[in-house]
Amino acid sequence: MQQRYDYILAGGGAAARSLAYQMISSPLSGRRILIIDPDPKLNNDRTWCFWSADPTPFDPIVHRRWSVLDFVAEDFVLQLDLAPYDYRVIRGIDFYNHTTRTLKAAGVHFLQRRVDTIEQHTDHTVVTADGEAYAGDWVFDSRWDAVPYRRDNPRYHYLQQHFLGWVIRADEAPFDTTRATLFDLRTPQDGMFRFVYTLPFSASEAMVEYTVFSANLLPPQEYRQALSTYIESHLGLNDYRILEEESCVIPMTDEPFPRAAGERVMCIGTRGGRVKASSGYAFLRIQHDSAAIVRSLIESGSPFHGRRPAPRYHTFDSLLLQILYRHGDLGARVFSNLFRRNPVQRIFRLLDEDGSLGDNIALMSTVQWWPFVKAWLKLRLTHRV
Ligand SMILES: Cc1cc2nc3c(=O)[nH]c(=O)nc-3n(C[C@H](O)[C@H](O)[C@H](O)COP(=O)(O)OP(=O)(O)OC[C@H]3O[C@@H](n4cnc5c(N)ncnc54)[C@H](O)[C@@H]3O)c2cc1C
Repeated sequence: MQQRYDYILAGGGAAARSLAYQMISSPLSGRRILIIDPDPKLNNDRTWCFWSADPTPFDPIVHRRWSVLDFVAEDFVLQLDLAPYDYRVIRGIDFYNHTTRTLKAAGVHFLQRRVDTIEQHTDHTVVTADGEAYAGDWVFDSRWDAVPYRRDNPRYHYLQQHFLGWVIRADEAPFDTTRATLFDLRTPQDGMFRFVYTLPFSASEAMVEYTVFSANLLPPQEYRQALSTYIESHLGLNDYRILEEESCVIPMTDEPFPRAAGERVMCIGTRGGRVKASSGYAFLRIQHDSAAIVRSLIESGSPFHGRRPAPRYHTFDSLLLQILYRHGDLGARVFSNLFRRNPVQRIFRLLDEDGSLGDNIALMSTVQWWPFVKAWLKLRLTHRV
């Protein structure tokens, strides 16, 4: 006899835990929920950042927040005053510990196994994990391994956001904790869009990340070399300790990810297309999606909500991906122009897919037009828009 659950979450990372967390904080609390993931989540394997003007469910575990960000180019520095937004950071380990504790206390079951198959039956779904079967009314599939995601469909662009980040400590307390650096473009571009991102956690401790948006990854040594060169030449540090390291590959693609993998199987998180194609940000989008799923379950009994961004946002993503894919060398100029000619709030609204059409047009009118027109024509010719 299979064990029966209302909701089975295949994969237990950010998306699954966020969804379960919002379920137990809603009228769905008390439903039988199972989370299956082979990873017990005992390591600080990632750091999530996002901007928001509103409270979010995980504000109690926000590690740091800043209301000013720097944008640093070769020939200018911008101080971006974010109000009414702020930029927040959540450490992976804090999120895992907090959600494990809260979800377990609410009766959510955790199973440390690898899901092999998900099979749809007439009125329920069977999930097999390491040979054991579990039945669920609804299954949410977020299984994802952070490996490069490349397909060969010529209709779409397949970029990756890849980076190496170090949490470093320096005795001389060189960091200004009142501001983080969103982009520092003072690193050789060599045909790809590359930048360094710095989050000062304290006067003596910061996370510094060397990030690249490109189709292919770099040899491992190149990230280390670029990061240590940056720390030495631009942060002026020769003597520091590396406390933690994180690296990743995040898909940046305009290929749609299917939401339904069966009548009663919904894909969520990265697998469900929640990563913003042109920025790689996903954490806050996952929170909004979780809230919409819970609302839909309560109102209609089905998790498939109709919340869709206006189609123009997909076109904006494709345009930017096309430029970065074909002309990575233009990336620094495109981002510099965007940030120099627009209030940061307008850029956030475009990336959050919630600006008005007029607001989005105002932003597009500030970009250097010819790379975007060329990219648009290319998309038209290949029937991508
Ligand atoms: C290092 C890193 C830093 C990031 N930083 C940011 C950031 O600052 N801001 C932001 O908005 N986004 C960021 N992202 C992007 C995105 O928010 C994260 O990837 C987020 O964790 C996505 O949630 P998810 O649930 O889709 O995937 P994950 O959190 O990766 O969860 C997927 C889970 O599936 C499990 N799994 C895989 N195979 C199986 C299987 N067969 N059976 C069961 N379980 C399985 C894995 O063990 C994993 O726990 C970052 C990503 C990474 C990798």
